[in-house]
Amino acid sequence: MTRYWRLDVDQDRCIGSGQCTATAPGSFELDDDRLAHPSEALVEPSEDVRSAAHLCPVAAITIDEVAAEH
Ligand code: SF4
Repeated sequence: MTRYWRLDVDQDRCIGSGQCTATAPGSFELDDDRLAHPSEALVEPSEDVRSAAHLCPVAAITIDEVAAEH
């Protein structure tokens, strides 16, 4: 069993500050409307992603832990 994090960005809250893409550039991207979204549906747990969620000025990022069979 492998643990993953499922990332979500609340598009109604995101103000496009770019804090998440600067902190965890491999895990978040800004689209043309300057709204962030996860680069991948599931990521491996990492301190960068945790920091990005913590640093988001509007708390738009949520992390849910999931377990996947391999
Ligand atoms: S840090 Fe938060 S507000 Fe800024 S771009 Fe990322 S999700 Fe949006």
